[in-house]
Amino acid sequence: MSDDFKEVNDEEIQDISSGSGFSDNNAYEDVCFVCRRPESVAGKMFKLPNGICVCDDCMHKTMDAVSQFDYQGMMSNPNIHFVNLADLQGDGFIPNRQKLKKRKPKEESEPVLDIRNIPAPHKIKASLDEYVIGQEHAKKVISVAVYNHYKRVATHTMDEIEIEKSNMLMIGPTGCGKTYLVKTLARLLDVPLAIADATSLTEAGYIGDDIESVISKLLAAADNDVEKAERGIVFIDEIDKIAKKKETRSRDVSGESVQQGMLRLLEGAEVEVPVGANSKNAMVPMTTVNTRNILFICGGAFPDLDDIIKERLTKTASIGFNADLKDKYDKDKNILSRVTVEDLRNFGMIPEFLGRLPVIYTLEGLTKEMMIKILREPRNAILKQYQKLLELDEVKLEFTDDALEAIAEKAMERDTGARALRSIIEEFMLDIMYEIPKDDNIGQVTITRDYIQGTGGPLIAIRGESE
Ligand code: ADP
Repeated sequence: MSDDFKEVNDEEIQDISSGSGFSDNNAYEDVCFVCRRPESVAGKMFKLPNGICVCDDCMHKTMDAVSQFDYQGMMSNPNIHFVNLADLQGDGFIPNRQKLKKRKPKEESEPVLDIRNIPAPHKIKASLDEYVIGQEHAKKVISVAVYNHYKRVATHTMDEIEIEKSNMLMIGPTGCGKTYLVKTLARLLDVPLAIADATSLTEAGYIGDDIESVISKLLAAADNDVEKAERGIVFIDEIDKIAKKKETRSRDVSGESVQQGMLRLLEGAEVEVPVGANSKNAMVPMTTVNTRNILFICGGAFPDLDDIIKERLTKTASIGFNADLKDKYDKDKNILSRVTVEDLRNFGMIPEFLGRLPVIYTLEGLTKEMMIKILREPRNAILKQYQKLLELDEVKLEFTDDALEAIAEKAMERDTGARALRSIIEEFMLDIMYEIPKDDNIGQVTITRDYIQGTGGPLIAIRGESE
């Protein structure tokens, strides 16, 4: 929004406030007296006396209705009195509770990475390194893709040459940081992010969210700022769940058709979306969002994809002379990284869909060592969060290396990746957080392996003794 526009608006608001005696009108948005929509949705208002505002639409409708209305002599009938709205209203008749409080302008925080002047890929990766442990390959690929994408957006090279968009497909087991990577990236770049679950999407017209609803979500994440939304990121999780059904007699409204429906969005299209609502209906205003500069990232665990890859690899191997390679693939932990488009097609993704996701990469499953690092190292690591919390009570929280190992081992058993870490820690930290504030004398708590395994208690040091 240009500064000029803002100035005019502020002046107008001040005019009204001085006229009607409102003191703090600046902080409130006008709401249409008839349809109750705020100015940000309904557009500029007609300002009537006594602070009544009517939007353009309602004013026109009223005018139309009045011009068609047959008064049948009512005006001259002495028994019919028209109520003059103005008589009912003293100053300040429209209380602030009938208005929407304007959002406080957010303090413009400097994004860590500025998309208008996008830093080189290694700098993007360095920022990601502070939060995301391991996944070196994925971080590298995503940094380069994002760099290329926003460089194109900033320099408008999209218009001159048809450069393929850098939409991505991430493959990796659950809890290995797919969503986290995208969230961190969006936060560092300060671009809006919409996360959608592919399983909830269906072809338009069926029960479920239609595919374009992801763009509504993005618009909401961008505070209804279309320009901002058009530079945003859409992350579609569980993309493997919309694989083509192998054998089906009914219409595949949540699988192949969704892939088909997404094609348009992925390559860039003008999409009509409702503003401030999830569904299109007559009551919600619509706006057009162009998806050309939106970065789409799809993610999924693709269970059994490794079997498909193995099958392909052994097939080629058994044609050759060393058919005994088969065993080797069985043991290969990083088999997923050998994925090809062909494998994904066999999995059930349609070729047109894969064609619009030119950047395909895999994330590794987390090892015990990575889990320990995740507990300790990221800038917002869980341990740091708890340490900070207890620090507010002036209690020092420590974990022995053994304890961290025990937590990681427990998490590995659950097989849900790093997601298990938080729930394990929360289980035993609940007691600590409950008991510690009871006793002012406690100065330090040390969590040990025994405590994690339920065979002992935490080590408690009394204030003064520990120093
Ligand atoms: P998924 O791969 O299933 O999308 P998530 O990204 O949601 O998994 O990971 C769940 C949580 O685990 C994240 O919120 C994050 O805190 C933590 N996590 C997962 N992987 C990593 C990682 N590589 N580095 C740091 N934290 C991670």
